[in-house]
Amino acid sequence: MSTRSKVISTLSIIIIMLLLVASSWLPKHIEKSRNLVLPTQSIDVSNNTKQLHQSLFIADLHSDSLLWGRNLAKKSNYGHVDIPRLIEGNIALQVFSVVTKSPKNLNLMTNSDDTDNITLLAIAQRWPIKSWFNLFERASYQASKLKIMADDPKNNLHIISSQQDFKKYLALREIKPNLIAGLLSLEGAHALNGQLGNLDRLYQIGFRIIGFTHFFDNELGGSAHGINKGGITSFGKQVLKRMDELKMFVDVSHASPKLIEDIFTLTKRPILVTHTGIQAICASDSKRNLTDNQIKQVAASGGLIGIGFWPIVTCNRSISGIVSSIRYVSDLVGVDYVGLGSDFDGNVSVPFTSSNIELLTEALVRADFDQQQIKKIMGDNLKRVFMQHLPSTTAM
Ligand SMILES: [Zn+2]
Repeated sequence: MSTRSKVISTLSIIIIMLLLVASSWLPKHIEKSRNLVLPTQSIDVSNNTKQLHQSLFIADLHSDSLLWGRNLAKKSNYGHVDIPRLIEGNIALQVFSVVTKSPKNLNLMTNSDDTDNITLLAIAQRWPIKSWFNLFERASYQASKLKIMADDPKNNLHIISSQQDFKKYLALREIKPNLIAGLLSLEGAHALNGQLGNLDRLYQIGFRIIGFTHFFDNELGGSAHGINKGGITSFGKQVLKRMDELKMFVDVSHASPKLIEDIFTLTKRPILVTHTGIQAICASDSKRNLTDNQIKQVAASGGLIGIGFWPIVTCNRSISGIVSSIRYVSDLVGVDYVGLGSDFDGNVSVPFTSSNIELLTEALVRADFDQQQIKKIMGDNLKRVFMQHLPSTTAM
């Protein structure tokens, strides 16, 4: 080998080693810096609350935990959600949402679809090559991570995609309380790659909730944070019609006001808002938080509003911001239409992780919600909506 060849091969080895080190360090570093726990005033949880908390069926409508590189079957000391911490928190049902594209310089006001941060994350986390530049494959890959976990009975995870699954899971949980149910949700239907046929494929994979838009306008309609912020497109209408046929839920969390309005008009199914805030509590120029009228429309559809835990949507760094938002919805439309939409692991800071969600139960007790109301808010409302409106079986 010539000296030149030796130098080239040595340099190649060094570059490969540096890339390997970077690919194991970078995703962890990014995740650790993005999903923080806010320092909050410590609250003593009373024995009565602890007892109440253990008796609850707790369900959360939104976490982005599948995006990151952590093994969610193992307990971690960073991020917000993993199976052991969900069990510690007595959470019975976690909706796992899947993010497939996220613009650089992400902001709440105006984003284009020209750039994408997930490409680098996908490569650094060594996702399958076919997912590096294909949004559908990214959704499919993240869903497979949940499925692989559920396939090992030691992980105590059950994926729910029908009323039948859900009933079976509830019966099993009566005997064995340390079980978690997971349901798949898509954050941004650009992952359809513009093809209606991909909706059926997502259904077959197990997705049951789809948010049309995320941070930018796409082929289906406008985002609250997009450039045009328009209404539903003809492709969006086709997708919504097929979702209704398949008994999937539409999530309007990041939709533009015009798109939300169009969806209200076009579907008879219950509307979900998996993670949001309330304009009257936290006025937001980005139009992300719900107006009173939108809250009333969600309630009229028989849907559910998942209140977010992070300060951008509550305008408050403590648990009281979450409680005020829950109180507002309960007073406006009744306690049956409000639930939890943490956005755990969604590039946000929150006042507690999944393992100590009993702090929220305590805060609701202190805010004079009665036990029946707390039961509904913490999970029974979502249980009701899923039991009535998921497809009865998985078959198409
Ligand atoms: Zn989101």
